[in-house]
Amino acid sequence: MGDGLMGRFIGRAAAAIADHAEELTALDQAIGDGDHGINMKRGFDAVADAEAEIAVLPLGAAWQKLGMTLVMSVGGASGPLYGSLFMGLGKAMGDDPATIETLVTACSEGVEAVKKRGKSDAGEKTMLDVLVPALAELRASTGAGEPFEAIAARVAAAAEGGLESTRDMQATKGRASFLGERSVGHLDPGARSSVLLIQAACAALAEGESDG
Ligand code: ADP
Ligand code: MG
Repeated sequence: MGDGLMGRFIGRAAAAIADHAEELTALDQAIGDGDHGINMKRGFDAVADAEAEIAVLPLGAAWQKLGMTLVMSVGGASGPLYGSLFMGLGKAMGDDPATIETLVTACSEGVEAVKKRGKSDAGEKTMLDVLVPALAELRASTGAGEPFEAIAARVAAAAEGGLESTRDMQATKGRASFLGERSVGHLDPGARSSVLLIQAACAALAEGESDG
């Protein structure tokens, strides 16, 4: 499951962010300062530039380096938050082989790191409204021995559901919270970028499985 995973993830994630940068910007224009697309594109362009150095590392160290690269290249709240996600995930993964079980543990640590860094939790109209339900779906899939493709489809659907749930929420964290009630009725930009990253990760994992 782990072989070549980082390279596949980086390629897919950087392409998805680049393809959706304008959409992320438009979402952030509605309830923030309109830089989320630029921030994420700058970050994942830097990650793509460092792909050769990242992809040769063991999975845990690779996630950590990816996180560091985001922290150093992304301005705005999302840089340190996504940095914490990937660094936390990588630290927990260490040198473990990638299995559903080790991924669940690592992703849990990554999501905890975001909560800690953001002093936030699900229900506040942020990326956590996608990360938390996607993780819950992944955790519910352990032990059944299902092909990863089936699990990935459910995790991606949970992420999409989480994104949609942000529409009716009032933001209580980040710039969107300055809008108070006027933040209601819009999707959260960070939740949208989290969906893109989860879709990229799921596709990279499912692809590795079908390669054998
Ligand atoms: P900035 O808000 O500094 O302009 P971005 O526009 O790049 O940074 O990122 C905004 C996104 O970051 C939001 O849409 C939200 O998902 C996420 N975010 C902001 N603050 C927090 C927080 N405290 N906890 C979790 N996520 C947050
Ligand atoms: Mg912004």
